[in-house]
Amino acid sequence: MNKPNFNEARKRTKEKILVLKDEYKVPAEMKEYGKNKKYFLKTYGCQMNEHDSEVISAILEDMSYSKTDNYEDADLIILNTCAIRENAHNKTFGMLGRIKHLKQTKKELMVGLAGCMSQEESVVEEILSKFRWMDFVFGTHNIHKLPEIMLESINKNKLEVDVWSNEGNIFENLPVKRDSKYKAWVNIMYGCDKFCTYCIVPYTRGKQRSRMPEDILNEVKELVNNGYKEVTLLGQNVNAYGKDFEVQNYKMENLLEDVAKTGIERVRFITSHPWDFTDEMIDVIAKYDNVMPYIHLPVQAGSSRILKLMNRRYTKESYIELFNKIKEKVPNASITTDIIVGFPGETEEDFNETLDLVSKCKYDSAYTFIYSPREGTPASKMKDDVTLEEKEQRLYKLNDMINKYSKEANDRLLDKVVPVLIEGVSQKDENLLCGYTDTMKLVNVKAPKEDIGKIINVKITDVKTWSLDGIKDE
Ligand code: SAM
Ligand code: SF4
Repeated sequence: MNKPNFNEARKRTKEKILVLKDEYKVPAEMKEYGKNKKYFLKTYGCQMNEHDSEVISAILEDMSYSKTDNYEDADLIILNTCAIRENAHNKTFGMLGRIKHLKQTKKELMVGLAGCMSQEESVVEEILSKFRWMDFVFGTHNIHKLPEIMLESINKNKLEVDVWSNEGNIFENLPVKRDSKYKAWVNIMYGCDKFCTYCIVPYTRGKQRSRMPEDILNEVKELVNNGYKEVTLLGQNVNAYGKDFEVQNYKMENLLEDVAKTGIERVRFITSHPWDFTDEMIDVIAKYDNVMPYIHLPVQAGSSRILKLMNRRYTKESYIELFNKIKEKVPNASITTDIIVGFPGETEEDFNETLDLVSKCKYDSAYTFIYSPREGTPASKMKDDVTLEEKEQRLYKLNDMINKYSKEANDRLLDKVVPVLIEGVSQKDENLLCGYTDTMKLVNVKAPKEDIGKIINVKITDVKTWSLDGIKDE
């Protein structure tokens, strides 16, 4: 048994990051283990987890499993979990409660836990004390070991826990079953070294490790050859890409430019930390038409005092300066953000700084959260005397303001013609299609089904706070 260990997970040594290309294998016993069996994979959390699930799916299909969207039909259930806030935890444990009932009537059902929660000491202790009926737990560092972990659990007929708390290596050549035929996630880096004081990610995902440029570019070129229209370069703070290379001087601006030059129709990247956002990077976004004018630039708070406590390493003023610089050089850019309200000790005055910042930046949209203490992080030990009620009121007030600016940003698109990558049938109306603009706005479109998978021009006919309606512009 390998249990997670936060003391190990927070270490950042000079140990060399290995790029391992032949680590993934399916033991002979497991190659057909999933024949005539179905798997249900539930993903919680961020894009990183969604992409990990695409790898997990491919591994399960290498073991001959086929997919089901109904967990009650499944022979194998895996929850790929998120640890970022308490409610993500609660959702997972709620789901495990439902699965327990199923397992009581379906003894051969296998149940596994994956993702960021598996990397938490307290979660694994809880699984070991209250969820012994589960079959396996693995973490974010050893997804490629899934077939072997399952085999171990089957052979021993008991709960197998295998979670690594090392700083992490890079595993190449893992299979991937992409959810979309038109747009793809491409990891450019793993882990995070920023250690924002509220955040669990540097503990659950290990140290920052940038993939080799040639591995990323080969992946993108293969996607282009397979007809993909869009790639999103993924990392916890993509602008720090390459900072961990020992010898080569190759940064995010170089990578973004080289990816743009592959000729893929759309390039996106997420998430940008304001700290590492260079002028060169802004220049590349401005220069290449296929680098989308959409930037997610989490600010977290408007008060420089709180930003310091959060260890964000920028001030309100330097953030606004960066924001304005981007808007100046990329005038059509849509900029979105993440904001936390109720960080320990946040006063009304601090919160008003956040409102002031939002009124200056007028974001296209924002994800807003109430601060959630995460065990093991520095902020969880800070004194917090703001009541939950007060935090909720602040969130409500902030969301009101955010929604007003989102609607205004969308209003500006009314009657305009915008490019939309049509992804499929709209969830809202089966007679409509849906897709995203270059600026990442969801549009429900009246267009023929043959347009699915194409980038078409759409005239915006109606505007809501979170979406747009449009018609194909012939
Ligand atoms: N790496 C990205 C960055 O630096 O902005 C974001 C990573 S995190 C998955 C996404 C968002 O969750 C963060 O931007 C932050 O707003 C929010 N978040 C992280 N930890 C949180 C906590 N303890 N409580 C509330 N929100 C949190
Ligand atoms: Fe968490 Fe900060 Fe790293 Fe983002 S940059 S993942 S918020 S520690």
